Order: sequence, then C-alpha cells, then structure tokens
Amino acid sequence: MNYFINVILPIPLEQSFTYAITQAEADFLKPGMRVSIPFGKSKIYTGLVESIHQNAPLVYEAKQIHQILDDMPLVTSVQLKHWQWISKYYMCTVGEVMRAALPSAFILESETVISKNSKVQINDEDLKDDEFIIYEALHHQSSLKIQDLMSILDKKNVLPVIKRLLEKEVINVQEEIYEKYKPKLVRYVKIATAHTSEKALQELMESLSRAPKQRDVIMTLFSVSAQTKKPVKVSELIEESGSSSAIIKTLINKEILEEYHIQTDRVQYEGDDNEASKRLNEHQELALNEVAQSFENQNITLLHGVTSSGKTELYVKLIESQLSNGKQVLYLLPEIALTTQLVERLQNYFGEKVAVFHSKYSSHERVEVWNNVLNNSHKAQIVLGARSSVLLPFQNLGLVIVDEEHESSYKQFDPAPRYHARDASIVLASLFEAKTLLGSATPSLESYFNAQQGKYGLVELKHRYNNVLMPDIELVDIKDKHKRKRMTGHFSDRLILEMQETLKDGHQIILFQNRRGFSPIVECNTCGHSPQCPNCDVSLTFHQYRNQLRCHYCGYNSAMHKNCEACRSVELDSKGFGTEQVEQEAKLLFPDHNVARMDLDTTRGKYGYEKIITALEQQEIDILVGTQMLTKGLDFRNVKLVGIMNADNMLNFPDFRAHERSYQLMAQVSGRAGRTKERGKVLIQTYNPFHRILQQVSTNNFKQMFDEQMDERHTYKYPPIYRMIKITLKHKDYQKVNIGADWYAKSLRTVFGKHVLGPEFPPVARIRNQYLKHILVKIPQKQSLGKTKEAIIKINNSFLSIKDFRAVRVILNVDNY
Ligand code: ADP
Ligand code: ZN
Ligand code: ZN
Repeated sequence: MNYFINVILPIPLEQSFTYAITQAEADFLKPGMRVSIPFGKSKIYTGLVESIHQNAPLVYEAKQIHQILDDMPLVTSVQLKHWQWISKYYMCTVGEVMRAALPSAFILESETVISKNSKVQINDEDLKDDEFIIYEALHHQSSLKIQDLMSILDKKNVLPVIKRLLEKEVINVQEEIYEKYKPKLVRYVKIATAHTSEKALQELMESLSRAPKQRDVIMTLFSVSAQTKKPVKVSELIEESGSSSAIIKTLINKEILEEYHIQTDRVQYEGDDNEASKRLNEHQELALNEVAQSFENQNITLLHGVTSSGKTELYVKLIESQLSNGKQVLYLLPEIALTTQLVERLQNYFGEKVAVFHSKYSSHERVEVWNNVLNNSHKAQIVLGARSSVLLPFQNLGLVIVDEEHESSYKQFDPAPRYHARDASIVLASLFEAKTLLGSATPSLESYFNAQQGKYGLVELKHRYNNVLMPDIELVDIKDKHKRKRMTGHFSDRLILEMQETLKDGHQIILFQNRRGFSPIVECNTCGHSPQCPNCDVSLTFHQYRNQLRCHYCGYNSAMHKNCEACRSVELDSKGFGTEQVEQEAKLLFPDHNVARMDLDTTRGKYGYEKIITALEQQEIDILVGTQMLTKGLDFRNVKLVGIMNADNMLNFPDFRAHERSYQLMAQVSGRAGRTKERGKVLIQTYNPFHRILQQVSTNNFKQMFDEQMDERHTYKYPPIYRMIKITLKHKDYQKVNIGADWYAKSLRTVFGKHVLGPEFPPVARIRNQYLKHILVKIPQKQSLGKTKEAIIKINNSFLSIKDFRAVRVILNVDNY
C-alpha cells in the first residue's frame, strides 16, 4: 500500500501538493500537523497536512517528506474549513491564508533568516550538538539563512533543529520586535482632604508659621492650581516654589499633601484580585437584555450605541457570561485602537484570562498566544486582537465581538488574503455555532442594511453614560468668515473664541485635519508648475519641520525647492494644509499652551502613539492636532472641545463611500468631546455648511444619513445593494497595462455586460513606478457569487496565458473597501 498526504505550502499555489509517506507516518499524521518538505530543486518549506490518502498524483511523482514536525495538530479542522472559505470567498490560495495565519516561527523555509535571541541567557550544556553548532555559528554571524544552516550542518533536514532552538528561545526569526510600553508615572499632589475646609486650612497655615518653606509650598500650590485649573505635578511645584523634593516629602509624610497619579484607566494588572465589573445603568441593562433576546433567534446582532454610551461595559457583561459557560471569546478591534487604554481596562476585570494579539508582537509572543488559544488554556479565554486574530486556533468559541465594526481597516488591502475581518469572523463564529456582536456608534451601511433586512438583530443605545449630553455641534461657514476677514490662518474667530474659553477652564482640545504634512501642494505663482513625485503620479507634500517635499505613496523625499523647477521663479506658494500647519498656527495663537500633533509622522517611532495618548491623559497636552488616528475609540476625560478644521476635502474625495466615511469620521471625532459630566462642543469649519452630511452630523441623524446614502447606492448600483469585485492590473509599462486592461475588460463584458465598469486609471495612476488600472465588476443580488467568481477566474487564467500579459500583475479584491 502506498500512502500520501496533501500538503498546503505557504506560497500562492492553486492546489495543495502531494507527498509520499510511509505507513507508519500515515498512522501517526493528522490533518493540521506540520511537515518539513523538499520543493523544487533545492528549497525546503514547512507544509501543513491537509489530508491523508492513497491516491498517487497523476502528473508528477510524489517526493518523500523530510520529517514530521508536530506531535499534535497545530491547526484545527475548523481552521482548515475557515481557511478554505477565505480562500474561496476572497479569491486567493489557501497557502496565502496559511501565511497570514501562522506566526513566522511556525513556517520556517529555506529563505527564513534567523538570529540570536540576545535577551535569553543560554547554558551550553542545555544544547544538543547540532543546536550548539548553530548557536556557535550565530556568534560569528549576526544572522543566517536556513539555507546556510544546511551547509553548516551538512544535511537537508534542518527544520527540526531550528524548531527546537526556537522553542528554547535561543534564536529569533527575523522581524521587528515590539516591546510593550509602560507609561512613566507622573506624580501629582493636592491638599489632603482633612485640610480642605476653610477652617482646617487656616489652622494649617498657622501651624506652619514656623516652617516658612513648607508654607511657601502650600501657597504656591494654591496659586498654581488657581492659574492653570489643572492637577499640579510634583516637579512643577518644586520648580515654582523653589523648594526641594525633601520638603514635599515631609509634607506628604505629615499628611498635609496627598500624592496621586492620573491613571484611572491604567492600573497595571498585578496578578491578584480582579476588579468587579461595573453595574450597568438602566439603558445599558435594557440593551443587554435586548442583545440576549436577539441572540435567541439571530446569530449576529448589531449594537448601535452612540459614542460614550458604555458599549464596552456591556461587552464585559457578555464576556462574563461566556466565561462562566467555559467558552472562549474573540474581541476584535482595529489595530490602532488596541491601546493600553482598553487592554488594561479588560485586564482589570479578567486578569490573565486576556490574551492580546497584535501584528507588532514578536514571534515568540504570537506563538505563545497561538498555543494558549489552541490548548484552550485559561490564559486565552478572551482574545483581544486586531484583524489577524480571526485566524487563531480557537477550540471552543462562544462569542465574537467586533468593536468599531464600521472601520475600513478591518479589510486587508495588501497582500492576499484580502479579507474583511468582520465578515471572516462572522463565518468563524458560525463554524462554532457561536454568536457575533457588531458594535459601533456609526455602523457601516452594510451592517445596518443587513439589520434592516432582518439578517442581523438590531439593538440601539441612545443615551450617553451618566446622561452626558451629545456634544453641541456647530457648523462654521468659512467662506463667509474669509469674506469678512475673520480668519486667522485656518482658524475662524469662532474656533479661536471657543478655544480660549476651553483653555481658560483648564480643559483640553482636539483639532482634526485629515491630511498630514504642512501643505499637500506646492505651486509656482508664475508658471503654475508643482513638484511631482518621480515615482508616482502625485504632487509632493511639503513638510516644513524637515524642510522637505515628501511623497505619501512611496516615501520619496527631497529638500524643499528654493526656485520653481520649471521657470526658476522664487514665488512658490503652498495650497491646502495639513496637520503640521495647523499645529504651527495653534502654537502661534496659543503660545502659553502645549500643542502636540498625532499623525503618521509623529507616531512612527517606538511607542510614539502611546506616548502621545499618555501625555494627553496626564494633561501635559492642551491642544492635540491629529489625523483620523484620533477617532479610534479613545476615552479622554478632559477633552471638551473638538475642532474639525476643514470638512470639505473628506466630502469631496472621489469614492462612492466618501460621504458615509465622512459622516463616520466626523461623528467619531466629535464623540471624543465631553465624555464626562460637562457637555462637549464641536466646531466644524466648512465652505459648504448646507451639505447634507454636515447637517446630519450636526443633528446626530444617523438614520437620515443612512436612508439618503442607501438611495444613492440603489441608484448607482453600489454596495451593499450590489456586490463588487475590483480587478487591478499593475505593470511598469504604461502601454502594457492599457492594452491588458482593455483585453481584460472586454472579456469580462462578454459575460457580465453593463455590470463591468472601466478600465479606468485611479486618481493616483502610478505608484512606485507601477501603473495601475482598475476594472470593477458589479454583482446584482440575484446573481450567483460563486458562478461570477468562476467566470472571472476563467478569464484571469486566459489572460495570464497570453504571453504578452504574463508579466502584468493582477490583483483581485472582493468587497473592495
Ligand atoms: P463607548 O464604548 O460606548 O464609547 P465606554 O464603554 O468607553 O463607551 O464608556 C464611556 C465611559 O463611561 C467610560 O469611561 C466608562 O468607564 C464609563 N461607564 C460606562 N458604563 C458605566 C457603568 N455602568 N458604570 C460606571 N461607568 C461606566
Ligand atoms: Zn514656475
Ligand atoms: Zn511617490
């Protein structure tokens, strides 16, 4: 008898590959185990067993495997089913899904680069001979390819050794290592409660009459807090009063001063007592009951709860009930919202049952989470993770929560699999017969439409927690303000006035501008020329801080020009404005306040993002200028005013989702204002205050926005009424892309007729020297999705078989966002 296995390789192959195994191996192997296998002339790969059978391949002779790498399946049968679904639905290979799913340490191949793990102390005696040889080699060379190790060890079969070394944490597979950020604790002081009454205070001052230095400190504390209306830092108090930390310490010891940290949401989990979850208010309680009821006959429920309505606390209750039934919970968040803020909030309730899964985690950490989830360990009862956590090996999933379900970053853009984590998680849940809760203050049209159609349950939460009112949103007509000369730079007199008031009361401000840099277009006043990226068809953005012109598509940069490249004129003007310019103007307008900026440029470095959030929480920043990074579910206590600098460029973006997106962005960023006690204020500056979307944002009228946008989607046949597949052709030769796209579109039209749009160049038609052209296929609801994809794949295969087109890259994007 001959035995074979079908193996999934982590590369884009249409089919799995068949390898020969012995009978003993056949008895031992199970689907989901890894094997080390030869491929091509000299490559080795880690492959995953898909099935075990006795059918020899017809067209090639099956090679033998090198070795079995696991004792137990690493990937579950549910996962294999899920991967199949993703591959079929999103038109990619299972190998591509496997590569996205498995931490790189699990899929070693000849090209993998390894290096020494300098964080771990190694005892030579703990290493077997072959392990030691590799360990030694890494002393002489900082990194080695696995291919190199084959010659060092003089054998082909090296993956098992590498695997052992990884398990002993002797080596790392090369990648960016991400360290967790621990905020620095800032010390604050206040007068101890025992002394705050007027009488007690008087007595205190008298008692200090013979300790003038201590008295000074107290006096300074009063004057500083009266002036700034903000918590007073120990460092500030020492400086202002000219005293020393010893004096402050004495006052603390005498219990005159009280020391504290602003850390309400950030208590580090210490490993013992968990905090009890909060008591829900009546609205939350009602909503929770409605969710439970909805789950009785629906698998998917949409929770539409306004910003700061306490959705997170409601999730906490649902999680508690799942845990008490011994089920695992997946809590999905957009990558950027996965901050310490939320992680710690959940750890306070659930302690070490929370596992965090993040693309920035090191391979060791990801492997650890993987194993904990696979073993259904108590350390991974709740997985809090970004997009790729839908690919983890759950055993006993009971509930999926998709927070901020409208977020477009749930869709993977590049490379394949181009999956949508929300939709993939719904399918995952269904494989477990588990429930899915989608949550958002601004649901996607897709989900709200599904709820309306009865496909999803719908629960609404309309009150903010503590009955804080929704922010008061005011539209400022900047066309009129310009006419009346009431603008200072990009700030209207209204905005400046509100900012002054806010700062006077010691509150904080967020200013939103969805472009980074100083100004997106530099233009010559004489001849109209504007500097372009040499690699992309797009204008370069001026970044004043570095005096550079930068391309936001490919990263190209050059020094800012002194003269026009075309006519040498010195009259260069900049058009439009980005966060950098807003920051600069705010600093000039409010020189006595701290202004900071949060965008891709300021958050790139290690902890960049977390540092800014911490500084804002600790009230070291008065005015924060930022891009849409600001909108992602952050909970700041003291932000009272939000200014949207210019609503128009979002609204005019050439995309059928531009209006929906603008609504979501503006409503979300507005939601950062006034989250406790006092009502927040939002000012939206615009040239077009009568725009429907702005009217709807300012009256918080989601339903009207939904109805009007759905009308348009009906009329123009866009999602969620029609489905869409976007086909992108890419090549460095303009003509090739053009001719190829015409051929492709023509073939599609013979099948789909008028439902094919394009080919068309996108607004930026060349990126990194590659020309792009898009074709859209719209799919009416009644048309079979499966058959549509089959037809497209057929056309795609004929396309790629034409010699001239073979070099053209084709990207298929299902449900493109
Ligand atoms: P959302 O996710 O809907 O924007 P959050 O869950 O972040 O809202 O809640 C907003 C704020 O209200 C948070 O600071 C949270 O701690 C607080 N909060 C919500 N529900 C309760 C409750 N039942 N008891 C006490 N505080 C609550
Ligand atoms: Zn010029
Ligand atoms: Zn470029």
